[in-house]
Amino acid sequence: MAEVAANLKSICDKISHAATKRAPGYQYCEPRLVAVSKLQPPDSIVSAYEAGQRHFGENYVNELMEKAFSSLIIKNCKQIRWHFIGNLQRNKVNKLLCIPNLYVIETVYSERLANALNNSWPKFRNSDSSSKLNVMVQVNTSQEKEKSGCDVAQVSTIVKHIVENCSNLNFMGLMTIGMYGYDIKNGPNPDFICLMKCREKIHEELEIDVKDIELSMGMSNDYEHAIELGSTNVRVGSAIFGDRPQKSN
Ligand SMILES: *Cc1c(COP(=O)(O)O)cnc(C)c1O
Repeated sequence: MAEVAANLKSICDKISHAATKRAPGYQYCEPRLVAVSKLQPPDSIVSAYEAGQRHFGENYVNELMEKAFSSLIIKNCKQIRWHFIGNLQRNKVNKLLCIPNLYVIETVYSERLANALNNSWPKFRNSDSSSKLNVMVQVNTSQEKEKSGCDVAQVSTIVKHIVENCSNLNFMGLMTIGMYGYDIKNGPNPDFICLMKCREKIHEELEIDVKDIELSMGMSNDYEHAIELGSTNVRVGSAIFGDRPQKSN
């Protein structure tokens, strides 16, 4: 597992370097690295944690539960911060919200899902706290049928709904997966440009400061490019942990 630590080090260096290439207006924050650990065993997570990594991303509620409640993780990763980045069905909301150290749900794609999270969160947050649940709105920027996320045209309506009607939620930003295999030789990734435009629109229509709207974009093959464009949160899996085992159903 020495490899995981070495990969992390090299990726963090590349992130810092890419961050220096951002336009001056985008230099206000250090991009966050989310280590996507889906289908990887808990000891890989512990290796990354011991190398200093704190934010981890998971796609499947059941798998996240198994890991988050495993004694290995509970004992060794006390300050872990889980990002849920998978397709969330409303009937799994209660299961997801009981995860200890849940940091953000990046994949809210509808008002109904936002309502379900908003209504359930008070049952799960620490009883002595009034802390809000961090959420991002996932946008289907590539408009591929099989991808989840809301339509570009719906983004401000959903964000407005969260900000105005979901007092238990904290709107943190926008997330996109985008089309696989885009070649940046053809110019900036159109999915990333699209997400930046969505942010601009929200800023104008809802008067939310651009600096308060994160952009979660960029994965193993394009995180540096995403950061140069202004990503604040990159989700990197295989470049840290190696190839993923297949999902068995
Ligand atoms: C799997 C996954 C990633 C990581 O993909 P890699 O190519 O392994 O870096 C990032 N984001 C989401 C939503 C994913 O499902």
